[in-house]
Amino acid sequence: TREIQLTSRPQGRPVQENFRLAETELPELQEGQILVRNEFMSVDPYMRGRMNDVKSYSAPFRLDAALDGGAVGEVIASRSEALKVGDVVVHQFGWREYSVVDAAKATPVPAGLAPTSAFLGALGMTGLTAYAGLLKVAEFKAGDVVFVSGAAGAVGSIVGQVAKAMGASKVIGSAGSPEKVARLLELGFDAAFDYHDGPVAKQLREAAGERGIDVYFDNVGGEHLEAALAVLTVGGRVAMCGAISQYNSTEPTPGPRNLALAIGKQLTIRGFLVSGQRQHAAEFAEKMAGWLADGTVRYDETILDGLENAPQAFIDLLDGANTGKMLVRLH
Ligand code: NDP
Repeated sequence: TREIQLTSRPQGRPVQENFRLAETELPELQEGQILVRNEFMSVDPYMRGRMNDVKSYSAPFRLDAALDGGAVGEVIASRSEALKVGDVVVHQFGWREYSVVDAAKATPVPAGLAPTSAFLGALGMTGLTAYAGLLKVAEFKAGDVVFVSGAAGAVGSIVGQVAKAMGASKVIGSAGSPEKVARLLELGFDAAFDYHDGPVAKQLREAAGERGIDVYFDNVGGEHLEAALAVLTVGGRVAMCGAISQYNSTEPTPGPRNLALAIGKQLTIRGFLVSGQRQHAAEFAEKMAGWLADGTVRYDETILDGLENAPQAFIDLLDGANTGKMLVRLH
């Protein structure tokens, strides 16, 4: 079988040479384990942090060993009572075509509810991040004006649509190309802009008008966060989900120069990890299944075929080549 290994730690933007496609032997199944034929693997921005050798909330990847991350596939052999051949499971041993997984670390997904890829995206970790970040962390309420950055991405596109579904008075999104801006308007965003078209502060101010914004869902950090602080209303809330504009930085990045605005505006700025939001998973799964079924929420996917293209998919993700969820189809 084949897997992708990290051979060196990226300096700044990752390059193909940081990765290697390796042939390996599958270990024999132990009691309690399953063998999964992976159908899709998830490609996520947080993986960039794990490629650095620094202590963080998620352990660094080891060199010359397989990378890991979310994947979904079919159980093709089982030595577990809990899971049987034919079950479809989500697990954390992606970046390989086949994975040997402890059954306790695999989660079965309901058959027939949605295409399997959705369980890595809108119905999976991505969707829960959007849902819990907006509703629980930012404490969104009907009537709020919401701004989300990285809005055409996997998390951002769901945030905007959930906000609309829950009664936002206005949803503004920013993204990195005219095509993505057009897509956001199709998905029901009230306003959208390309952050390359001019300073974020100016474009956001125009989109938000005198009213300003109540909630900022931050996927990007940096200039976007500074711009949002400037237009947040008194009592405004920020969910700090990601800071992708800084993930490839090799030097410390400057903070928002206007952070002191948080005092006078009595802002709540909260960072969060989806792993800390699992208590909302059941509520989320039920709501999202309904929204997908009735078309309230739509999701895009950008799919590259073949494990050998996984490093490129990751490089492309950081470059913004994806619309919606970035995935690699493995079988
Ligand atoms: P996306 O699908 O949004 O893909 C990443 C996108 O980031 C790219 O498509 C690109 O779009 C954008 N981007 C890249 N560089 C920049 C830049 N310099 N400035 C602005 N935008 C940039 O990925 P996800 O939806 O999976 O993740 C979105 C964010 O959420 C990330 O920051 C991620 O780390 C975070 N996250 C956090 C979680 C948590 O538990 N806190 C869980 C999951 C995700 P564009 O063309 O618009 O530039």
